[in-house]
Amino acid sequence: MRRNILAGNWKMNTSLFEGIELFNSIVEKSYSFSDKNIHFIIAPPYTHLATMDANRLINLSLAAQNCSKNENGAFTGEISVDIIKSVGAKAVIIGHSEIRQNFNEKNSSLKEKVDVAIGKGLDIIYCCGETDKNRNQNDQESVVENQVSEALFHLSYSDFGKVIVAYEPVWAIGTGITASPEQAQNIHAFIRGLISNRFDTSLANSTSILYGGSCNSKNAKDLFECKDIDGGLIGGASLKADEFIHIATTLVAAKDNE
Ligand code: PEP
Repeated sequence: MRRNILAGNWKMNTSLFEGIELFNSIVEKSYSFSDKNIHFIIAPPYTHLATMDANRLINLSLAAQNCSKNENGAFTGEISVDIIKSVGAKAVIIGHSEIRQNFNEKNSSLKEKVDVAIGKGLDIIYCCGETDKNRNQNDQESVVENQVSEALFHLSYSDFGKVIVAYEPVWAIGTGITASPEQAQNIHAFIRGLISNRFDTSLANSTSILYGGSCNSKNAKDLFECKDIDGGLIGGASLKADEFIHIATTLVAAKDNE
């Protein structure tokens, strides 16, 4: 059985005080999920990580929103995997479209980040997804295939087991426009097929593939009822504990009914 995962990407939001309050509130509301197939991942700003004790819950861990491909040294403003690990995070988001766009990140550079993160024992949430221009040209599959294969398919079988894939169509992130369940399911199944072709069906079937892009408590049910959508990477809607937990309840219910 593969893991259902609900990840919250807080982006550049919350003061330290607000972040601690939000984190504590999510932790308190998450206790009731301890016997369910759901794992929570919280990705606050770097500065908050050391103040958050994720060991309070077995089904919750912390992630950084990015990492450097360099191990250490004169890289002002960057955060290494070792620093991320030293503050208790167990995972890192790699390839978020905002970073791809704002810093012109290429799959080749993401591949280097993947290697450093996995080599040092972090799990990764690897983001992929097409722009609206790609979709208008019906190029979504080739774009996603390049993103996934160029940064991940050199990994060994066992290292790929540390990868969570997040399909996040760029046109849906922070826009209030969500991919339809059919659009999302099609790409999720496509990604699972790529993993199966590269590795095998067993690894493909055990890889969690999350949907991200304006997912909230209103549209989550239809998305999570799709058989290849194993949870969500949630941006805006992860900044309110009640909303985030509502999405978690929806995820558990949708998968219980499968
Ligand atoms: C994200 O940035 O990963 C994301 C999915 O954002 P939002 O939910 O706000 O669209």
